[in-house]
This record gives sequence, C-alpha cells and structure tokens, in this order.
Amino acid sequence: MTGSVHAYICATCGVQYEPSQRPPASCTVCEDARQYVGWDGQVWTTLDQLRAGRSNRVEELEPGLTGIGTEPSFAIGQRALLVRTREGNLLWDCITLMDDATVTKVRSMGGITAIAISHPHYYSAMVEWCQEFEAPIYLHEADRRWVMRPAPAIRFWPGETLALFGGLSLLRLGGHFPGATVCHWPAGAGGEGAMLAGDVLQVVPDRRFVSFMYSYPNLIPLPAHVVARIARRVAEFRFERVYGAWWDRVVQHDGRNAVARSAERYVAALASEAGEVEL
Ligand SMILES: [Zn+2]
Ligand SMILES: [Zn+2]
Repeated sequence: MTGSVHAYICATCGVQYEPSQRPPASCTVCEDARQYVGWDGQVWTTLDQLRAGRSNRVEELEPGLTGIGTEPSFAIGQRALLVRTREGNLLWDCITLMDDATVTKVRSMGGITAIAISHPHYYSAMVEWCQEFEAPIYLHEADRRWVMRPAPAIRFWPGETLALFGGLSLLRLGGHFPGATVCHWPAGAGGEGAMLAGDVLQVVPDRRFVSFMYSYPNLIPLPAHVVARIARRVAEFRFERVYGAWWDRVVQHDGRNAVARSAERYVAALASEAGEVEL
C-alpha cells in the first residue's frame, strides 16, 4: 500500500523534513527549549498548502540588499535577505515559502550563488531553495544535528570564520546555538558596512540596542562570559548597520557601538548587586 509522499513542514518553526508518507511523530526543533510546540499540539503543513494561502513580499532595503518575507506571516516570521555583489548573490537566512513569483523575481536579480543560514530556526525549506537555484548551502558544522532534511548541497563549515565572495564573510558567534553565525557585508550601508545578524544579535524594539538569548520564546538568557565573548568578536569588524531577522528590526546607525553597549548593559544587569537596578 502506498500513499503520497510529502516533505512535511512544521507549522510552528517552518522547518521542512525529509519526504515521508506520514508526518514525523514530533518536531525535533520545536521540542527543544529554544522553541516551543504550539498550543494545539504539533501541526504539519506542506509547501503546496502554504502556496495556496500566502505569498512573498520582495522589497529592496538598500542598494544591493533585498528582503524576502512571507505574508501573512508564517511560523517564526523571519525574512531572508538577498545580498548582491559583483561576484555573486548570497541568500542570507531562508524562509519556508518558495513560489514561482518569488523565483522569477530572484532570477531577475541574478539568482542565488550561495545560501548561508544563521542557525537552525531558519533552516526552513532551504533544500527547496538550493535545488531551485543550484546553490550550495553553508551551515556551521556545530549545528549539524539540527538538519532535518539532508542534501548533498549542504556544506558544513568548521572554525570561526568563512570567507565567501564579494567581501562577505560568515562569523561563528555561538550563544543562541553552538554554530550560531552572522554575516559581515562590508559594502553595506553605503560602504560603512553591515552585519546581517539573524537573531544571534537580536535587534530589540528601540532599534538602538540588540540582545542575546539562549531561548527567545522561553526567555532564557546567555551567561555573561558568552555575551562578552560575542561582543569582543563582533568588535573586530567595521559596520554601521545591523539587520535583524524581521523586516523592521534594523539598527540603522552606529551598529558596532550598539552591539558593544548592549553587551555591556546585559552583562551589568546579570552581575548587578542589590541596589544597582530596581528589583
Ligand atoms: Zn517545529
Ligand atoms: Zn532562533
């Protein structure tokens, strides 16, 4: 007896699994303390179902940088970024919905040379994108066990830095996940530099600070020494702007100092003695 085979997608995190006749018993990503299972229990969907009710907004954010996000919002709701350089285009982070209209628009901008993803919450339907655009996917090897749909195009990179093309480089910061990565784009912000941060550096609502968490939905912080290490690493790079994982979460100016003062504030809050902050 054979039924139809689907690459099932978790409706809460948006991660697509290997094709199977039945949905997986549970979502490994959502069972983890850095995510959560929805209030109605585990719900699965498919790419065809998503295409029936949603589309992607594709919008230029600055010269050379285009956001791609799904509307109405799906799962975690992140938008991806297409960075265009003379040496090729990078899809930074990824989203689950890929449809014909999006493919046409991305092709009109030169397609995708490579995909790089900050951490497992945005692995989404990365394999659909890599197959469509025949592009390799760069993931940090420390997060290898979170890949729910393996593919030959996935290249696990080790160490602390990976230089790509067009001046782009991936930096492992860790924290939120062991392999949590950001992308430095030196040509961004009119040549002042931009950091594409996912939620590894989480741009907070005032957009002058970022934060650093082990789990965002469950509000579990990171140890002070990890935040200090992340801040030291980021300070090695020059950048004016920080692009967070959602449309409007962008630190427009003074991004490098924003990360430094955010880390200082965070570490001070964790270490403060009675009387230093109102408790
Ligand atoms: Zn999930
Ligand atoms: Zn995350």
